[in-house]
Amino acid sequence: MLIVLEDQLAESHPSYQSLLSYLRTKALAVLPVSLSSHTELYIEGELNNLDAAALLSQPAVKSLIPMHSDCRILGRHQPAQQGLSFTYNSVEFSQSSFHVFAGLCAVDTRAHVEKMMQALSRHGQQCTRMGAYKPRSSPYSFQGHGKDCLPYVFELAGKYGIKVIAMEVMDAAHITAINAALEDSGHPTGVMLQIGTRNSQNFSLLKAVGQQRIFPVLFKRGFGITLSESLLAAEYIARSGNPNVIFCLRGVKSALSHPHRNLADFAQIPVVNRLTRMPVCIDPSHSIGTLACGVDHIPDIFHATAQGVIAGANMVLVDFHPDADCALVDGHQALPLKALEYYLDDIALTRETYLQRQTRHCELSAVL
Ligand code: PEP
Ligand code: MN
Repeated sequence: MLIVLEDQLAESHPSYQSLLSYLRTKALAVLPVSLSSHTELYIEGELNNLDAAALLSQPAVKSLIPMHSDCRILGRHQPAQQGLSFTYNSVEFSQSSFHVFAGLCAVDTRAHVEKMMQALSRHGQQCTRMGAYKPRSSPYSFQGHGKDCLPYVFELAGKYGIKVIAMEVMDAAHITAINAALEDSGHPTGVMLQIGTRNSQNFSLLKAVGQQRIFPVLFKRGFGITLSESLLAAEYIARSGNPNVIFCLRGVKSALSHPHRNLADFAQIPVVNRLTRMPVCIDPSHSIGTLACGVDHIPDIFHATAQGVIAGANMVLVDFHPDADCALVDGHQALPLKALEYYLDDIALTRETYLQRQTRHCELSAVL
């Protein structure tokens, strides 16, 4: 059972306190989750002891929602249930928002970071991706510059008005290092902690990003587990205290994906929207993994992006590089800066079409 409290009700408010005392008398475990507009109480234990009418008569209670899945906090238990929106560093994220995070798969040089951010700023972008800690298949491959690059990445982000940087963490110590570097540089930007597909079931890492609420989390689905297992893994983050989670589809590992790197799974965007309240991101670069182009002159990555955006994606994470031949990670899939304008135009066209489709289907469902 989930109890939705009245909007902006402080924990110290007498009606909140009296509700907690009532629940204590029923010997139930109560997990409060505070969202941007209201708090939700997740009740665990012997629910037969609960009287719905008595609960609803409590002034603190707005509504009661029975939970239908183990994705308790992130899950959508009713079609009209309010989504999990949040604002981070003045950028809003929800199942209605839309943002592009174009940037370097891995930070290599200060000059490349600057060129990337300059181009983003020229095109009115306020988000990017910049990998400092890289999970690599081979221990002999470049592992990322780690904390050494954070000062200049943050400084340049501030210089070019970038507000949110998606950055992978593989260890709780990386969160501490990012936080310290942001403090040292005077918070010129913000970071969204990325959980990579390889760590999608690293439960201690999921708990670590969940036990802090400074940074929102971009959770990438596991490439070899089911969608429900990935959704439950994301739930660990919310269960540990942080409901500001974005779910990223990035393709799944399959021999059948050839010649693409992974099998794009963007047809599952509406499924994630329906089953959960999380904003949904797509990563066409790590799904497709090649700059190959169709005979229609449209690269496969552009096509996959359009497929995700037209299906309602809320965020696009994509690799760009000012000089891909010199990139230390994934240069083969990084789009050149010259393509940025075309990429953003293509996305704008597709997003507009998605919004028109949505309006048409709202009309249709109203008459059916
Ligand atoms: C990445 O985005 O840099 C990355 C390593 O992606 P994934 O975890 O999806 O492979
Ligand atoms: Mn990569």
